Amino acid sequence: HANRTNGIDKNVWVEFTQLAAAYSKVNLGQGFPDFAPPKFVQEAFCHALNEGPMMHQYTRAFGHVPLVKSLAKFFSRVIGHEIDPLEDILVTVGAYQALFSAFQALINEGDEVIIVEPFFDCYQPMVKMAGGQPVYIPLRPKGDGSVLSSGDWVLSPEELASKFTPRTKALVINTPNNPLGKVYKTEELQMIADLCIKHDVLVISDEVYEWLTYDGAKHVKIASLPGMWERTITIGSGGKTFSATGWKVGWAISSGHIIKHMKTIHQNTVYHCATPAQEAVARGFEREYEVFGTPESYFQQLPAMLHHKKNKLASLLKSVGLKPIMPEGGYFMTADFSSINGSTVFSGKWWFITFTWFVCVQGLATIPVSAFYSPEHGKEFDKYIRFCFVKISLLVSLFFPLI
Ligand code: PMP
Ligand code: GLN
Repeated sequence: HANRTNGIDKNVWVEFTQLAAAYSKVNLGQGFPDFAPPKFVQEAFCHALNEGPMMHQYTRAFGHVPLVKSLAKFFSRVIGHEIDPLEDILVTVGAYQALFSAFQALINEGDEVIIVEPFFDCYQPMVKMAGGQPVYIPLRPKGDGSVLSSGDWVLSPEELASKFTPRTKALVINTPNNPLGKVYKTEELQMIADLCIKHDVLVISDEVYEWLTYDGAKHVKIASLPGMWERTITIGSGGKTFSATGWKVGWAISSGHIIKHMKTIHQNTVYHCATPAQEAVARGFEREYEVFGTPESYFQQLPAMLHHKKNKLASLLKSVGLKPIMPEGGYFMTADFSSINGSTVFSGKWWFITFTWFVCVQGLATIPVSAFYSPEHGKEFDKYIRFCFVKISLLVSLFFPLI
């Protein structure tokens, strides 16, 4: 086997999806909706399938033309920069492939990539496969530990500044963040942007949950800050945008001089993504362009629905004595499970036994937050678990009092 596979063979989704299938009655682990995508994109998919033979064949390698055009139109308005549909966008097999192509296209052997912890787990193996060196900087809860909002988890500007070296090539952020639900404020993004401009570093900004913000939090695109368009790769997901994670349509948006290298990776690996799914996402964005900012917009309706599910999960967790960290965005809520109603349940290395008991005996599948940390820092965060609140339903609410 090739050396690049060493040390990256374990995968939290593969392991916990199996564990959940075997033992859980309620699966709040892997993040995806348990409801259907909105009617207008389902109909667009069906329409594409019936539109004639060409919709079943290859389309443009770097993105079906109707899709790159609708993404360019939509995001030019959001970012405040005129996006060229053919030069500045690459359509990929989900956000995963956009991330993979970015690391492969931009990272050289020995380059350092700063990753903000907790991070979506694939950043680390992807940086390593590209020959890069991950450098971690944790978000830390401010104050006395009694914090209850993801907004209280912050970066130390001094600590972040200390991570930049002459070898730093890129920094990865994820806002809204998986697993914490942190939505970075403009000042926080500006602090990151200033450092990246000063050190001439690229930003890979994973924004798959961009429409999912709650309680007044506002998603800001780092690419929209002055001087950032030229150095930011913004990554999105049709799966998260339209609650259709199985379609695996994603994209990267950046300046053409960056996207052209990602196109080189794409044309020599995947080459092309499924045509009808791209057509359906294109029509979804066309529709959203027309209704943007109105109550008819799915980008208002989905967060409104998830807001209720989030609050429902928070009250369920509180009812069993846990203290959740309220997310400002995304699909997930984390909670410290080392103490219930203020009494310590476990400490130190015993977390895994408690966690396994939770899944295997109580039947509630979740994800340990340490999976979103480097091995060096994970231990500090062993006591947190992540719940996916998108899947909260009446059935789950009835189950909770039993645990
Ligand atoms: N980034 C984050 C933060 C995620 O949570 C996920 C999982 N959906 C992805 C990227 C991958 O998205 P996709 O399903 O579009 O590949
Ligand atoms: N993004 C989803 C999550 O965090 C799914 C991840 C995956 O299946 N790889 O749960």
